[in-house]
Order: sequence, then structure tokens, then C-alpha cells
Amino acid sequence: MHSTIIRTSTAEIYDAYVMKNYARPALTLVRGSGCSVWDDQGREYLDFTSGIAVSALGHCHPVWVEAVRRQAGELIHVSNLFRHPLQAELARQLVLRAGPGRAFFCNSGAEANEALIKLARLHGVKKSGEEGRCHKIICAKGAFHGRTFGGMSATPQEKIQKGFRPLVPGFVFGELNNLRSFADLVDDRTSAIFVETIQGESGINPCTDEFLAGLRHLCDRHKLLLLIDEVQCGVGRTGRFFAFEHAGILPDAIGMAKGLGGGFPIGAVWIRENAAEYFQPGSHGTTFGGTPLACAAALAVLHVIDKEKLLDKVAANSGPWLKKLEKLAADFPQQLKAVRGRGYLIGLQMAGDPAPYQAALREAGLLAPGAGNNVIRLLPPLIATRVHLDRSVEIIRGVLQAKA
Ligand SMILES: *Cc1c(COP(=O)(O)O)cnc(C)c1O
Repeated sequence: MHSTIIRTSTAEIYDAYVMKNYARPALTLVRGSGCSVWDDQGREYLDFTSGIAVSALGHCHPVWVEAVRRQAGELIHVSNLFRHPLQAELARQLVLRAGPGRAFFCNSGAEANEALIKLARLHGVKKSGEEGRCHKIICAKGAFHGRTFGGMSATPQEKIQKGFRPLVPGFVFGELNNLRSFADLVDDRTSAIFVETIQGESGINPCTDEFLAGLRHLCDRHKLLLLIDEVQCGVGRTGRFFAFEHAGILPDAIGMAKGLGGGFPIGAVWIRENAAEYFQPGSHGTTFGGTPLACAAALAVLHVIDKEKLLDKVAANSGPWLKKLEKLAADFPQQLKAVRGRGYLIGLQMAGDPAPYQAALREAGLLAPGAGNNVIRLLPPLIATRVHLDRSVEIIRGVLQAKA
């Protein structure tokens, strides 16, 4: 028999029936438009969470809504046993942006990374002529690559791995931005190097351009694949379509998700030509990946990014914004230690526990998620203008002042 207690509020129902793997603040969101969301009490918030870097066009962008509405009434899902013109077009659009190669579509960042890890295994077989020998992947300390067994094994964080061991073997970890420490880990069993261009979940730690260029050389020298996780920092968030473009390198494969669908779940992998041929019929697949509906959403995102020149705007707006945030760090050094990041992916390094600050920001009308290691993340939608960015600075200043 089910419980007969009548639960009415969303909070009570969560409490009773939703798995407790998230510690949520007391906030129920019911509506969004542009850079704003509203709670069930009618309060408006400036949304610099963007669904964790997902709502690239903000909430309910009219072009996106129309594309998804139209496609939902036309054809939603056909599986990957058949072709669909929108999947074809989305693959073409990604190849145009990344380079000669092929795309594979899935539903999330973890799945995209899983495909990259499987690609590394296939590369190892090709390289050594033997299965199971050349299977090591070098990742970075502080990395986050997702919650599947592959992604989790590439994520050397106790809070994420605890309780789930044994993990997938073969992952080793170098110091971010220390090329020597990566080079020292290479041996004849290594198949790939796998990093985020900007680490999102451990405090917004960017790879330097020199480090990325160094990894590219290291991979070329030892015939390793360079795999880049752009799940969070990609799709325009740094002012270039891919964050690694700032370093002038090209990886062998890229994982994407989050912002790509603008709120509709979709993940994607781009693989450089030649390496893309490792996957042949039967070697990988997905039921849902790349549905017509998901592809319509992603194509709308790419279309609006181009049409509204969002990459240029993010690049132009983020400089002055960063300066103002750095001014806050100079004015309140006891509380705000440093500001890091690029474009619309910014981390505020707080001196201590950021939770009370996040709560105060929320009270003042700004939603900003944590990023581990006492960091608050600012992830405005790519459509955010200088007005929105300045508003965030004002709110943060007010909170720092009140807590000084
Ligand atoms: C969010 C994230 C993932 C995992 O994506 P999911 O869609 O949650 O599976 C992987 N890598 C990075 C860098 C991320 O930010």
C-alpha cells in the first residue's frame, strides 16, 4: 500500500519521492524568459546558472521555441536505424566548425565522453595490434568528465568516486598546466590524453594556451589521441565556438553537450577524419541520440549564435565584465580572493564556504551555482548583454558589502 498522506507542495513531494542525490535550496522555478526565471512565489531572478551552462540562448528564445514546436508536430524520433535530414545538417554544421571529420550524436555530456573513451580504446588496439594492451588515458587532476563508469574513472575526485569502486582501469592523472607531469606519464601503453579546456567543476581552471599546444605536440610525437571535453566550455561560452580555438590547436576528438541543445538534451562527438573510421557498424550506438527534435533544437542554437553574432558579443562584453569583477576582488580581498575564467564562464574564488554567499545572492535576485573548492560560478546565457552583466556586478557588490 502506498502512503495515504496527502502531499501538496512541490517541496513536500520532493522530500517524499525524489531521490536525495542533490542538496537543493528552497526554491521552485516555474517559468523563464531571456535571462530571467521566476519562482512559484512570482519572484524574478537573473539566471546566471543557465541550467549549468545549458540555456545558451536564455529561456524560451522565440526562434528556438518555434523550431522545437514545428519539429514536434512533424517528426520527433526515428532511431538511428534511418537517416533524417536534420541530423545530417547538424553533423555538417559541426564539421564546418571543427574541421574535416565526422559527428556522432548522443544525449548528454557523460555519453559524449564515453564515446571518446571508447575511441581511445580502439586507437590503442590499432596502435599496438593487440586488444587490452595499449589502453591508458592520461587525464588531469581536478577534472570532471561525468558520472558514468568511464567518466567517473576519468574524474579523480573522492566525492564522486567514493562507494563506486572498482573503477575502469587505465586512467592516470597529471598536473593541469604542467606539461612535464603529463609527459612523464606517457609509456607504450598510453593511447590518449583527455582534458577539459577549462575545468568547470573544480573551480574554473583554464588550460593555458602553451599547455594545450604542448599536449598537441606530445600526442603527435607519441601517436596518442588528444581528446578534449568541451561539454561545459564549448558552444560559444568563451567567445569562440570551441574554447580550445583560443590556443590555436585542433584535437583529434571533441565531446560536446550542455549548451548545444539550448535546453533540449543532446550530446555530440566530433572525431577527426581517419580516427572517425575506427567506429564501424555495431561498435557503438544509441537509441535516442540525435533525434529529429534534438537536432532541430541544436540547429536553432547554432543559427541564433550566428545570426545574433553571439560569439563576438560574448568576446566583447566579457572583457569589461571581468574587469569589474576583478575590481570587486580588489575592493573585498578578505572575501573574494580571485576571479578566473574566460568569456561567460567565470569563477569567483571565495575565501571560505561560498554557500552563505550563494544564498545571499539568491535573496538579492541572482542565481549562481557553486563549482567546488570554494568557487561560485557565473554562467550567463550567451544572450546576456552588458546590462545583465552589470546588474550581476551590482548584486555581488551589495552582497560583499553586506557581509564585509
Ligand atoms: C557537465 C559535464 C559533463 C557531464 O555532462 P552530463 O550531461 O551531466 O552527463 C562532462 N564534462 C564536463 C566538463 C561537464 O561540465
